[in-house]
Amino acid sequence: MLLKRLRDTMARGVSAEETLAEVVRLVANEMVAEVCSIYILRAGEVLELFATQGLNPSAVHRTRLRVGEGLVGDIAAHGRPLALADAQSHPQFAYRPETGEEVFHSLAGVPILRAGRVLGVLVVQNRTRRQYDEEEVETLQTIAMVLAEMVAAGRLVSPNEVQQVDGIGLLPLRVDGVQLTSGVAIGRAVLHEPRIVIQRVVAEDVGAEQERFEEALASVREDVDRMLEAHDMQSGEHREVLETFRMFVDDRGWRERVREAIASGLTAEAGVQRAFDDVRTRLGQSTDPYIRERLSDLQDLTNRLLLRLTGRTNGESGGQPEDMVVIARDMGPAELLDYDRSRLRGVVLEEGSALSHVAIVARALDIPVVGRAPSVLSRVEPGDTIVVDGDSAQVLVRPSEDVVQTIYAAIDARAERRRKYAALRDLPPATRDQARVGLYMNAGLLIDMQHLEETGADGIGLYRTEIPFMVRSEFPDVEAQAWLYSRVLDIADGRPVTFRTLDVGGDKVLPYVDAFGDENPAMGWRAIRIGLDRPAMLRRQLRAMLQAANGRPLSIMFPMIADVSELLAARRLLELELDRARRRGLPEPERLRVGIMFEVPALAWQLDSLLPHVDFVSVGTNDLMQFLFAADRGNARVSARYDTLSPALLRLLHFVVEKVRPAGVEITVCGEMAGRPVEALALLAIGVRTLSMSPGAIGPVKAMIRSLDLTEASAFVSSALTQPDRPLRETLRLFAADHAVEI
Ligand code: PEP
Ligand code: MG
Repeated sequence: MLLKRLRDTMARGVSAEETLAEVVRLVANEMVAEVCSIYILRAGEVLELFATQGLNPSAVHRTRLRVGEGLVGDIAAHGRPLALADAQSHPQFAYRPETGEEVFHSLAGVPILRAGRVLGVLVVQNRTRRQYDEEEVETLQTIAMVLAEMVAAGRLVSPNEVQQVDGIGLLPLRVDGVQLTSGVAIGRAVLHEPRIVIQRVVAEDVGAEQERFEEALASVREDVDRMLEAHDMQSGEHREVLETFRMFVDDRGWRERVREAIASGLTAEAGVQRAFDDVRTRLGQSTDPYIRERLSDLQDLTNRLLLRLTGRTNGESGGQPEDMVVIARDMGPAELLDYDRSRLRGVVLEEGSALSHVAIVARALDIPVVGRAPSVLSRVEPGDTIVVDGDSAQVLVRPSEDVVQTIYAAIDARAERRRKYAALRDLPPATRDQARVGLYMNAGLLIDMQHLEETGADGIGLYRTEIPFMVRSEFPDVEAQAWLYSRVLDIADGRPVTFRTLDVGGDKVLPYVDAFGDENPAMGWRAIRIGLDRPAMLRRQLRAMLQAANGRPLSIMFPMIADVSELLAARRLLELELDRARRRGLPEPERLRVGIMFEVPALAWQLDSLLPHVDFVSVGTNDLMQFLFAADRGNARVSARYDTLSPALLRLLHFVVEKVRPAGVEITVCGEMAGRPVEALALLAIGVRTLSMSPGAIGPVKAMIRSLDLTEASAFVSSALTQPDRPLRETLRLFAADHAVEI
């Protein structure tokens, strides 16, 4: 057994150089490879050849590659294995004459990894075009783990140098990312990556290691159960997220992998790490958000087990700063909950998306999170002052004292504004000339519902039902959906709620529906198109809504209608469900309102045939803008290029309002635009009387409404819209300043 022989070699106490020479000889023999080489990462991001069997021996310590250079550099740069039958045709191939390697055609290499950091690369090469199989790559990974311990122990390069290889600058730094949850926080950096050191890789007693693994697994399971029992985890999707995580703990396939790794001679901790590395190697390149999410759950579980097995404690231990900003590559939901919530101020992730499990839990706890912040882990030192600005999707590292003061002032001002808006809570959203505006809130998670009471909104103008579908691992059945919608109606306590049917597809992937694979997802098979092609799915959702209403008023909205026939088809499905409910003696909704999202411009020229079939039209300006201007809403380069206050959009909306209102149909705007005071002003001026927005926008928009004379504003906007094509943003600002409108 290779591992055993390796251990014997290391135990002989020969020098590190001799040990490496022996390792490359053993590996080359065992794998029937003509070449085996070890490269070690040195300061300045250089990979130096430390040992070789098969390449020119004089190249040792002479051949140096930058990280990213050549195939070896590529393995280090991405921290992932490569196995190539024809290495020379790979675009990254770089030939080094001193090595004499031009005769070798195939190559397999793995990074030497420790606690997520690359310390070097281990490679084998063959003359023939050899296909290395998965098992061979796994063997290399096991050897690399042993080598990682040698490097980390400072036996090859000085421990200082190992520390430095990330090259940390200490200057103030701004890192741009994406907003995962909103809010601004300041605190001291705590690096989450637990950097768990596996001291023992090779098992003395396999049976004992299997037992240690089972014990650790049992205690992790208990931890998660305890979290689920915690008071604020009693309901909602964040509970579901944790339950999904617990299912992972019990996953048979994964457990088997760990057991096999231990049976091959590894310790429990090394086995757990190996099983994770295997999965990451297989799935790591996937851009599928569901798979990435599973990987962060598995990483979370792996870290938890490693902490147990190595007897280390995690972030909760003493010595943590009072105000913590946790920095991580990625995090699972359970890991976030491990931190002391009274000290946790914010989170920064190198990965993550707004729908990642950690973001959902953070939102429930009202903690700002910035995600996809490149390389923050290597650019931040523990204890650094960090500003997490979720609102502008920025992280400020080691900001100067005046920036810190400005941030504290901004946090205070925010609290002050919150107090001011809270004081408006019970005052009606009516203009100075007594026009009453309907102010509604958008929601998508049960936890959002708490804001209804807090903001004093009139109701929920848009309930996005897809989010609970996306965090689950299987399609929720009618009962589960009905339970959720009924909770929403309970919390709304008589205030109207408009449920939008599933708006998935494109980038909003459901893990249990075949991947859509659309090239142009926003315009692909999504929303109502899926609902009509998979009527059973849509019918189940409608059934759940009727069940949840249980006689209470109900309002249903269909997304992405592009053609009247789609609405009619959707209505027919609703009729079928109403019939079914009647046959079963279920009470009918006291009042049933049916409406559509106006997101596709083509609808503007179908209003005459559409309006007789709807009670309301809700304008989704987020999608409408992207289709009107052909500008991807998710692409920062183009999404900010066109102004929502352009005459093109406002004239279109004005045209729609003038058609819809006389037909006795309600018109609402529920895109982000409705939540920005200046935009809301323009919408009211062209005749919209109902707006729905994120909870945080209700206060500012209400303050604007209460300071506005709508008659004046309407006259002003009408005349501005007859002017040559120029966005109204600036003129509206001047108008607001002149008329003391709070924007
Ligand atoms: C919109 O498109 O404006 C909208 C409100 O829907 P979503 O943002 O969920 O696509
Ligand atoms: Mg939309």
